[in-house]
Amino acid sequence: MTAPTASPAVCPRCSDEAVRTVAHSPVPDVWEVLQCARCLYMWRTTEPARRTSPGAYPERFRMTAEDIATALEVPAVPPLAAR
Ligand SMILES: [Zn+2]
Repeated sequence: MTAPTASPAVCPRCSDEAVRTVAHSPVPDVWEVLQCARCLYMWRTTEPARRTSPGAYPERFRMTAEDIATALEVPAVPPLAAR
């Protein structure tokens, strides 16, 4: 079993330091689920580096403070189609 990684100092997606722990594994010290308070990205510490490490997170999915401030509203889910 892989040892849990320490909580990263920064968010993989937006590099903000406001990262909090939102869940712990049922078996203690196996994994944690972390969330960034700025961009709301969430990840489990046992996910691969491309999801957990700022240096390995895909550049095309990274966000800056400006990206977040100017992001388009998330589209509403349309009404269900009548059958
Ligand atoms: Zn973030």
